[in-house]
Amino acid sequence: MPPKKVSEPERKPLIGRVGTNLKVGIVGVPNVGKSTFFNVLTKSAAPAENFPFCTIDPNESRVPVPDDRFDYLCNYFKPASKVPAFLNIVDIAGLVKGASEGQGLGNAFLSHISACDAIFHLCRAFEDSDVTHVEGEVDPIRDLEIIGEELRLKDEDQLMKNLEKLERTVVRGNDKKQKPEYDALCKIKSILVDQKQHIRFADWTVNDIEILNKYLFLTSKPAIYLVNLAEKDYIKKKNKWLVKIKEWVDKNDPGATIIPFSGMFEQKLTEFEDPILKQKYLEDNKVSSALDKIILQGYKSLQLEYFFTAGADEVKAWTIMKGTKAPQAAGRIHTDFEKGFIMAEVMKYADFKEEGSEAAAKAAGKYRQQGRNYVVEDGDIIFFKFNAGAGLKDAKKK
Ligand code: GDP
Repeated sequence: MPPKKVSEPERKPLIGRVGTNLKVGIVGVPNVGKSTFFNVLTKSAAPAENFPFCTIDPNESRVPVPDDRFDYLCNYFKPASKVPAFLNIVDIAGLVKGASEGQGLGNAFLSHISACDAIFHLCRAFEDSDVTHVEGEVDPIRDLEIIGEELRLKDEDQLMKNLEKLERTVVRGNDKKQKPEYDALCKIKSILVDQKQHIRFADWTVNDIEILNKYLFLTSKPAIYLVNLAEKDYIKKKNKWLVKIKEWVDKNDPGATIIPFSGMFEQKLTEFEDPILKQKYLEDNKVSSALDKIILQGYKSLQLEYFFTAGADEVKAWTIMKGTKAPQAAGRIHTDFEKGFIMAEVMKYADFKEEGSEAAAKAAGKYRQQGRNYVVEDGDIIFFKFNAGAGLKDAKKK
């Protein structure tokens, strides 16, 4: 059986960039199915709804985040414009052993990973004599080790360079101001270099995290493990590597999510022209696509969530960082909304659905006025009121 999802990838405090335009990079050794996966994600998610700017460049794509709540709101309001939340995904060329020393353009590819905020670590568990493997036979554990070690070595290189610099000023120059940073880097060294672990393996204090956020080490980025299976294994939910991969992840990246999928199977699904035949194929094989789950987990790993604005003109999901307060959430729509923030009128999605309409939710006292300290929750339907100097204005996108 494929390993069950272990836990949410948000088990650790956030280490990473702050912002809402974050990206997940697809990382792995060559010929494991990264581009196939990237292409099916782009193909199956994008053209059907004709979203603008889905392909940012040939290697970067925005895919809509699947959400029943969004679909429900669109069905309800039948708006002219529908804008879901998006996950940005980058296809990064394969890394080979020695990448951290520049093998196979390794440094360029590693810098692409640097620009990402989370990693889809894709490994190959399908056999196919027509698809060569750079390392000989198929062995996802060896591949996980190769990639893990290249990322760690790159971090080690960056860490040691900075540690040397700080040593000069802090230890020899007695610079007290930089001492906390020096101490944090020493602590990182003990995990990364002495214990040869990834940074996310350890627990960090708030002070450490501040330093980690400055350096954005590759091994501090959350990773989701995607196991590419042959179609028949995916359908049967069986493959000899799955247990070993789970053991490896438990030991090296405890709590991280593992998602088995099949690039070939997903590609086949995109090739069905008739949706009824596609549905029949899925039902006959008692199987479903893994893409929605992958996109959702990727989005969650970035510590992002969204609120909705909903009306006849537009239903839109607005991405925010977890823990965002109402005025800053309003600022996602327009800076004036934040500057002149008066209140947020909030309906919980579940209340809206249960009551059946905005009026019914109001009558039931489930349409609440919230102030500046309100922490927006995922799925809130919000109508902002703000003062734009000339008096009270409605901020609802109508
Ligand atoms: P990348 O180098 O990791 O980006 O790998 P590609 O996506 O280019 O795939 C390498 C080769 O493996 C291509 O010929 C794909 O058609 C093939 N491939 C990808 N996924 C699967 C799969 O699930 N099963 C099989 N048999 N072949 C696959």
